[in-house]
Amino acid sequence: MIIRVKDVLLLNPPGDKQYIRDFHCSFSSKADYYWPSPDLVVLSGLLDEAFRVGVMDAILDKISAGACLERILRGRYGAVIFTTGTATLKSDLALAAALKAARPETKIVASAGILKFEGRRLLAGHPALDACLTDYADPELEAYLRGERGRPLRGLIYRNGGGFVASEGTPEREFTVPVPRHDLFAFRKFRNPVARRLPFTVVVTSIGCPYRCGFCAAGAWGYRTRPVDNILPELRFLGRLGVKEILFLDPTLTVGAGRVIELCRSMVSEGLRFTWSGNADVRTLTEEKVSWMKKAGCHTVFLGIESGDDGLLKRYGKPVTADRARRTVDLLNRHGLRTLGYFILGLPGETRDMALKTIALARSLKLDIASFAFATPDIGTPLREEAMARGWIPPDLDVWDSTERPLINSGDMTPREVEKLRRRAVRSFYLRPSYVLRKLLQARSAADFVRLASNALALLKKK
Ligand code: SF4
Repeated sequence: MIIRVKDVLLLNPPGDKQYIRDFHCSFSSKADYYWPSPDLVVLSGLLDEAFRVGVMDAILDKISAGACLERILRGRYGAVIFTTGTATLKSDLALAAALKAARPETKIVASAGILKFEGRRLLAGHPALDACLTDYADPELEAYLRGERGRPLRGLIYRNGGGFVASEGTPEREFTVPVPRHDLFAFRKFRNPVARRLPFTVVVTSIGCPYRCGFCAAGAWGYRTRPVDNILPELRFLGRLGVKEILFLDPTLTVGAGRVIELCRSMVSEGLRFTWSGNADVRTLTEEKVSWMKKAGCHTVFLGIESGDDGLLKRYGKPVTADRARRTVDLLNRHGLRTLGYFILGLPGETRDMALKTIALARSLKLDIASFAFATPDIGTPLREEAMARGWIPPDLDVWDSTERPLINSGDMTPREVEKLRRRAVRSFYLRPSYVLRKLLQARSAADFVRLASNALALLKKK
C-alpha cells in the first residue's frame, strides 16, 4: 500500500555525546563547535515545495532518545529522514526500529556518505529502514516519497516488493538545488570557535572530492559541484536572514582553476559581505585564488597536510610534500589568512620516526591550529579494504568514533603508541611558548582570549 506523505521530518538523531554528522564522516566534537548536517540542510530546500518540512536536531537541543521518539510520534510525520554515520549508526538504527515498531506506516530513510557502499547491507539487516539516501542532492527523493516505484530512482537504494532497487548510472558532475530552508534550523545556536562573527551556518558547494587519497571517505565517494549561479541565491537568502559567517563544508572547496574565483568575484560584486572559512588541498591554492578568497571575506583555510613523511603520503595516493605544505601555509600567511592543518597519526606503514616527523612539521609551520586525528578505516576507502584483508581491524567494524581511539593495528605501531604520540603532538603544538605568545598577541578582546583558552583546554583535557 502506498501512503501519501505530506509531512517530512529531517532528523539529526540523539546521542550520548555532542556528535557532528558531516555526511562523509561523523565524530564527537571536542572543542566548542557545532553545525548542522549538510545533507539535512540541502534536503530542507529540495523537499520544501512538495511537502511540509520539519527539522529536529536532537543533539543541539539535547533531546533524549525516548523524548525524540515521543515527539516524532506526536508530529505524525509521513516520512522521517535521518542523518547518520559510523559514530552513531547503532543508536540511530535502534531509534529507527523503535519508530517503525510504533508507527509502521512512516517511511524511514537514512542518509550518509557510507550508504553508497553499505546501503544494501544495511537495508538487508534492518527491516525498519525503507530506503537509504546515497545522494542527498538528487531531486528523485521527492518522487520516492510521493510513492513512485515504476523505475529505479536516482540517489536512493530502496525496498520494492521483496528486493532492493538501486540507482543506475553515474549522476551528472554538476548539480543544482533549490535554496535550502536555513530558517528551519536553529542557526543562532550553532557554534564555531574559528568563526569571526555569529550567527554562522554551513553551505555546501560540492559533494565528495576529485582526489583519491586512500584513507579518505570523501575521495571514495566521487565528486559533484554546484554552479556558482546556483549558490548565489542561497547566499543572498542567508544575508537576509542575518547570517554573518559561513563555513563552506565542501571536502575541498578550492578544486579547479576558476570555480572558487568565480564564486569570490560574485560575492564581492554583489556585496555579499560574509566572513568565512573552508577546506582546501595544498595543491590547489594559487596566489590569485587566495587573493580572491581574502577579498571575498575568507579568514581561515583548513589544509589537509596529513603527514611529515612524503613517502607515506605517496603510498596513499596523496603526493603532497612537506615542502609544498610549507609554501602553501606561507602563501596563506602572506595574505593574512589563518590556517588550520589536519594531520593523521597511525596510518599503516607509519613508524614512530615518521610520526615524530609529522609532529615536527606541524610545529615548524606557521599554523594557527593543528588537528591530529587517528587513521580510520573509513567505509569505501582502499585503506579499509587493505585493513580488512590483512586483519588489521575486526571484520565487522562499522561503528566507531574517530576521535576516541586508534582503530587500526597494523603492527607498525601499537594503538597505545599512536595514542601517546597524539597526546604528545597536541601538547607540543599548543603548549609551545612561542605559540602561546603568538595567540595572546592575536586575541582581539578578552572574550576572544577566553574562547581561545577554553577551546585549547578542552582539546588538552581529552588527550
Ligand atoms: S584531498 Fe582531502 S578531501 Fe580530497 S580525497 Fe584527499 S584527503 Fe579527502
